[in-house]
Amino acid sequence: MRRVSVFGATGSVGVNTVDLLARRPDDFQVAVLTGGRNITLLAQQARDLRAEVAVTAYDELLAELRHALAGSGVRVMAGRGALLEAATIPADWVMQAVVGFAGLEISLKLAEQGATLALANKESLVCGGALLQQTCAKHGTRLLPVDSEHSAIYQCIGGQDREVERIILTASGGPFLNASRDEMERATPEQAVAHPNWDMGQRISIDSASMFNKAMEMIETFVLFDVTPKQIEVIIHPQSIIHSMVGFTDGAIMAHLGPPDMRAPIGFALNWPDRHDLPLERLDFGKLGQLTFHPPCTDHFPAIPLAERVMEMGGLSGAVFNAAKEQALDLFLAREIGFLDMARIVETVLETTQTGDDPTLDAIIAADAEARSRACRLDRTKHV
Ligand code: NDP
Repeated sequence: MRRVSVFGATGSVGVNTVDLLARRPDDFQVAVLTGGRNITLLAQQARDLRAEVAVTAYDELLAELRHALAGSGVRVMAGRGALLEAATIPADWVMQAVVGFAGLEISLKLAEQGATLALANKESLVCGGALLQQTCAKHGTRLLPVDSEHSAIYQCIGGQDREVERIILTASGGPFLNASRDEMERATPEQAVAHPNWDMGQRISIDSASMFNKAMEMIETFVLFDVTPKQIEVIIHPQSIIHSMVGFTDGAIMAHLGPPDMRAPIGFALNWPDRHDLPLERLDFGKLGQLTFHPPCTDHFPAIPLAERVMEMGGLSGAVFNAAKEQALDLFLAREIGFLDMARIVETVLETTQTGDDPTLDAIIAADAEARSRACRLDRTKHV
């Protein structure tokens, strides 16, 4: 039996992970499950999977979680410190699916444990990629990407890292694939959240519509795989059947195909280095018809050139990019700015960013706070 933990168990990736674990109770012993505000779901998951420990990120929810798990034998913890402490509870495999910048410190703590770390939290790689990679290397932690594109790339490379010529990230194009720039300027949060292919949380769905999500994935690719920014391409593929491709020095291209279902990359990471049956729809090429591709228009999706700039800048620019993007998204959700203003804010904040090599966690946290406050001030003064 393998000991496993799931951080962010109550979220979209977490629920899919729990679904796979629940199907094989004889194979996995669950050490830790963590959540945030959804105490009912966290308690249910902890009971169903007979977890040893359940942790909510919020101190004030301790009593509610304790009450929900009364008589279950599950140990209960709460608060930020408890999350970091739970990251040190031994497990062979850990899913890190906490959302947002709050996930970076947890990823670093998990990377110190020397287990297999299945990483969904994008912000860890974008804000602290170099630091996380160094920590994994120092403690012998195996990092497995869970984002569907990076799982696809990892599988396509298949150990032939030195022969990689280009990495081609696919993007669905989201709900504004055929929208005019004017329509995008006027887009509402309700329109932006309606992703055509993937069923995801609100924030990541809007990031997909603006392609800030793809921009994050470009930076993640740069951190995870040994390539230069110029070797990373983005292509729009509206059907979301090809999850990404790798071109090799001999001109061959390997593509990873499958239905859009997060249980595919989660299951790959869970079963790695083996493969195991997964409850996924099988592709029927007769029904698929055609797969189409076209390059993204950077006028409509300015997040893409911004990601290229971040990869060239290095240092703290990833943390600044992510913080400004998150702050701009909050402002868009509050209807204080328009859809394309998000990229204008990020660009302005990035312009005044200092670069530097190999930042520490403290420097990243300070850069994050500073970029958020600058993004907020920009909105107030309308200097966008
Ligand atoms: P969700 O918002 O659905 O879930 C996030 C999880 O983190 C929940 O368990 C939530 O608890 C918990 N959480 C929220 N705030 C905090 C906090 N401050 N401290 C600790 N835990 C917290 O996110 P997703 O599952 O969609 O995404 C998780 C990560 O994976 C993100 O970084 C995302 O970019 C990435 N990702 C997501 C994909 C997807 O398909 N959804 C695909 C690829 C990557 P609660 O809900 O109980 O409040």
